Amino acid sequence: MLCSPTSPAMTAFPAAQPGVAPIDIAVPAAQHRRVFLSPPHLAGGELDALQAMLDSGWVAPAGPVPIAFEQAIARAIGIPHVAAVTSGTAALHLGFQLLGVCPGDEVWTSALTFVASIGPAVQMGATPRFLDVTPDTWTMDVDLLRRELAAAARRGRLPRVVVPVDLYGQPADMPAIVEACAHWGVPVLSDSAESLGAIQHGRHAGADARLMALSFNGNKIITAGGGGALASEDAGLIARARQLASQAKEAAPHYQHEEVGYSYAISSVLAAVGLAQITALQARVDARRAIHARYRAALHDLPGMRFIGEPNWARSNRWLTVIRLDPAEAWVDRETIRRALAAEQIESRPVWKPLHLQPAFRTAAQAGGEVAAMLFEQGLCLPSGSSLSPQDQNRVIAVIRRCFRA
Ligand SMILES: *Cc1c(COP(=O)(O)O)cnc(C)c1O
Repeated sequence: MLCSPTSPAMTAFPAAQPGVAPIDIAVPAAQHRRVFLSPPHLAGGELDALQAMLDSGWVAPAGPVPIAFEQAIARAIGIPHVAAVTSGTAALHLGFQLLGVCPGDEVWTSALTFVASIGPAVQMGATPRFLDVTPDTWTMDVDLLRRELAAAARRGRLPRVVVPVDLYGQPADMPAIVEACAHWGVPVLSDSAESLGAIQHGRHAGADARLMALSFNGNKIITAGGGGALASEDAGLIARARQLASQAKEAAPHYQHEEVGYSYAISSVLAAVGLAQITALQARVDARRAIHARYRAALHDLPGMRFIGEPNWARSNRWLTVIRLDPAEAWVDRETIRRALAAEQIESRPVWKPLHLQPAFRTAAQAGGEVAAMLFEQGLCLPSGSSLSPQDQNRVIAVIRRCFRA
């Protein structure tokens, strides 16, 4: 939902003072007609939360509002300790720091993911290795992981961290991944940025990992307008994450630093928005799952049309609905559909381009990658925002079905 500056709710803010120009945010007219992939969806309580935060005077990246947001996240995911930070990428960076990633260490992640799953580790001087995914769940192939760990142990060079990714809201099989890694003493940092509200084996996505990272970026299932979090069962790790996130200031009247930290503490402005948003989490999961079910019902009969599977131990949040066009049966490819949708002002996107195919990681090691490459060639993410109207979803469906008739 796009909020126009003249919407009645905005008058809840005090009127501009004399001599202060009113703020004018112009939204291009064309944007109103467009169907976006995953736009922010306001929960309704954002203005009240911002007003309460401003009234309290706590606008800084400290104080009661970020703490309340951290507690709300902890309740939502059932993991007791949470540090809220400026972005999901910052959460991953802190995670790599806490797990001791050093220059020359190997860090392994899924081949099919967003660059942020590995970016901070590479900036820290780590060597990435990309593991293929399974064709049914699109998440890290656990059998491949077991084989690769055994081979790495023989080489005498185990990874410092393994980063499984809960892709498009589909949780990775965390107990199996943690067990495979624990056998070699390797910690797991789960990139759960896309899977807030998703369940695996009766627990939240990423819950069994040593650390898990979340994102509240604008396109995620709930948004704070930016932000992220790092969660763990280990209180000490999260206390250290908070310390590092606020410039590693020691408890002293002067500025004392035993080590060098980061400026990653979340602003109270973002935390206030996040607090209002997270109350709607279950409704957002239900809405995205309903959108997914409608796409499936309306498209499954088309030749070669495939969807991401959902194992019986998992409940995806269906952050994005992704279709795959199996070329053995489908006579249209993803680019034909993407261009037809774009011509109707409908945003869609190819699946993440695998990291082992990115020029930035030309020299990185990989294990497999054919499945990830195939999913990139054949996969397309459809508009899946929880505010997508049935009318707009029908437009998307009609364009896709038309491609098959032509
Ligand atoms: C969005 C996302 C991130 C990064 O989160 P930011 O808050 O944008 O920094 C990391 N990993 C994955 C898989 C994501 O989708």
